[in-house]
Amino acid sequence: MIRIKNLHKRFDELEVLKGIDLEVEKGKVVVLIGPSGSGKTTFLRCLNVLEIPTTGMISIEDQSLDFSQTVSKKKLPPFRSLTGMVFQNYNLFPHKTALENVMEGPITVKKESKPAVRQRAEELLSKVGLGDKIDYYPFQLSGGQQQRVGIARALAMEPKVMLFDEPTSALDPELVGEVLKVMKDLAREGMTMIVVTHEMRFAKEVADEVIFMDGGVIVEQSKPEEMFTNPKEARTKQFLRLIQ
Ligand code: ADP
Repeated sequence: MIRIKNLHKRFDELEVLKGIDLEVEKGKVVVLIGPSGSGKTTFLRCLNVLEIPTTGMISIEDQSLDFSQTVSKKKLPPFRSLTGMVFQNYNLFPHKTALENVMEGPITVKKESKPAVRQRAEELLSKVGLGDKIDYYPFQLSGGQQQRVGIARALAMEPKVMLFDEPTSALDPELVGEVLKVMKDLAREGMTMIVVTHEMRFAKEVADEVIFMDGGVIVEQSKPEEMFTNPKEARTKQFLRLIQ
């Protein structure tokens, strides 16, 4: 489903991604862990082409972008719509209701008809447990509810892959569970997901593969039981000791 080859991203003098290779099969959940500043967010943003990689290749399903050549700007929007992004701080439109937030992308980007989008948006909001809150504005919702709107909004674009960038780290502890539950349900339904998170229990329970990133490279990649009980690399061991 996803194939990434030798991906590099540089911000001026700072090389943040130093050659990432990764393949993810359809329906798999990959959890990305690693210290702050290791390039996890940048990596997700490159997959969503919110950042343009300096070089390397990304293929998702049958679409492919090769950044070692100049990539035409016209290719970016269709490629972007293959992935749905869920942000740490929800990034909802504050002046739009939950329903309007979810409807916005399909109507403005995909030019879909309003009635069809409305029905899908209502279904998605019900699916994330907010069927009774569709007319609420973000400020009337808890952080956990806002993040669930964020997930419904990403799903409304019917992406092939969902990318989660620390989706629960801005939440009060008692609200984390409701967001993780929605993510677990999605995983169970077979959604392909890449998740940056500090929630190690989620990683243990849901991930098919865990990736430890440090200094812009993948240091170690393994099944969760292997990663958490028998990490191979010294850097991984040290990181896991600090957070567990
Ligand atoms: P992580 O998600 O693992 O904490 P990030 O991908 O957010 O790591 O950041 C990796 C490094 O890239 C950091 O040093 C950060 O300051 C730098 N960085 C991220 N985005 C930009 C940007 N737009 N311009 C310059 N530097 C950036």
